[in-house]
Amino acid sequence: EEMVEPRRIRALHEDVVNKIAAGEIIVAPVHALKELIENAVDAGSTSLEILVKDGGLKLLQITDNGCGIKKDDMPILCERFTTSKLKAFEDLTSIGTYGFRGEALASISHIAHLTVTTKTAESSCAWKAQYSGGKLAPLKPGQSAEPKACAGRQGTQISVEDLFYNVPTRRRAFRSASEEYAKIADQVGRYAVHCKGVAFSCKKFGEAGAGVAVPANATVRDRIRMVHNSAIANELIELEVSSQMFGFKADGLVSNANYNGKKTSLLLFINHRSVESSAIKKAVEQTYAMFLPKGGKPFVYLSLEIDPARVDVNVHPTKREVNFLNEDEIIELVCDEVRERLGKVDTSRTFMTQS
Ligand code: ADP
Ligand code: MG
Repeated sequence: EEMVEPRRIRALHEDVVNKIAAGEIIVAPVHALKELIENAVDAGSTSLEILVKDGGLKLLQITDNGCGIKKDDMPILCERFTTSKLKAFEDLTSIGTYGFRGEALASISHIAHLTVTTKTAESSCAWKAQYSGGKLAPLKPGQSAEPKACAGRQGTQISVEDLFYNVPTRRRAFRSASEEYAKIADQVGRYAVHCKGVAFSCKKFGEAGAGVAVPANATVRDRIRMVHNSAIANELIELEVSSQMFGFKADGLVSNANYNGKKTSLLLFINHRSVESSAIKKAVEQTYAMFLPKGGKPFVYLSLEIDPARVDVNVHPTKREVNFLNEDEIIELVCDEVRERLGKVDTSRTFMTQS
């Protein structure tokens, strides 16, 4: 009896498409922040200051001292697929920068109020503009949408306000600002450890001290001390592995057998992008299980550089997932090295206690 009448197929309105795409890339404030950090690092910054209000839902602000954005590029800055980093599809195989598809700022502008203040070395003043739905928008109603001249230092400041203001279901999904802030501090901490030569600070709005603070000249070990603690920093061994056959190089700092944490901390970078990998985490935990007391977990900072031709970063717009060739072999080589280094430390300790 039930008849389904075929309905007409229609194209979705562009605004709807853009909002859907934005919601896929930016699920939580931390995802917007990660894109902004990567942009600032791509711009050659040596200082990143981050300010967060209400777990990033009210305000996410990042101030860098990088190359800035040319005033003439400001009108297309937040359009989808506008980028200074990629020209041809083939460039994906040699891309050295974090971003490459020109979607981050566009996405943010569809689901938040976005303000950009920027100054290049050549410009005599800074320029400030607001964006909405991918386009320049007036700073105040009735005003022109054109960028406005203002005073400012070289670099870029990006403010993201009222994230998800027009996506009420997403907005309601956030229960606690402190949970979102914790995710943000964790992600900032990862880049603060990894980005040598770059100073980081991350502050909650209204608080005097910074949650994360690292000066530009700190070593990686000191970065770990500042972001985490001395109990970890004092028990780290350096790791270096490479293989021409598999086209990779790995280095890092990993905890020795004296350290046992409650949870595994895995700070993983693949070609300088912070990523997650359950395969690597599992292999690392298995490796340490032989050296740590039951339930003890390691701290592992690992930076993998893999020949870009062997990495597929195009799996998903968020780039949180990265596929690469010979994953199993590479993981095994890294774990072999960890095992050997842990074994060495172990024998020297046995030797010392015996003498
Ligand atoms: P992508 O990083 O993939 O190119 P984005 O939407 O993140 O796309 O950024 C678009 C462009 O805006 C970048 O290619 C870059 O030229 C410029 N840009 C963004 N953020 C900054 C920044 N902090 N400093 C300088 N330029 C920036
Ligand atoms: Mg980007």
